[in-house]
Amino acid sequence: MINSNGSSTRECAGVERLAEANLPTEVGVFRIVAFKSRLDGEEFPVLVKGELDAETPTLVRIHSQCLTGDVFQSLKCDCGKQLEQAMKRIQEEGRGVIVYQQQEGCHSDSKPTFANMSAVLTYSNNWACAGCG
Ligand SMILES: [Zn+2]
Repeated sequence: MINSNGSSTRECAGVERLAEANLPTEVGVFRIVAFKSRLDGEEFPVLVKGELDAETPTLVRIHSQCLTGDVFQSLKCDCGKQLEQAMKRIQEEGRGVIVYQQQEGCHSDSKPTFANMSAVLTYSNNWACAGCG
């Protein structure tokens, strides 16, 4: 369970939770949570909306960082738009997760989108494993 009950770092499913904070955005208020992979040491932020549990289907987007698209709104790709749309859909839904992978993956054919979200749902549920709350 992802929540904010003030307890210290929890470890769960290969990732370590480092820190979190509220993040007000133009779209709405999210929680931003910093995780560190215990496999490769990669640190990555995750945007979380609502309370998550292993039983309820959850919108999940794995977004690969694209500096030019996400930050500078480049028109060479639609990464920034996709990220914005993901945030809006999660805001509408009232719950969801955006995992922001900090590896430039803009031009990867295998970049997950909402279309194959069910495939990453299992991953999300492990990551948010109910035993950790
Ligand atoms: Zn891009």
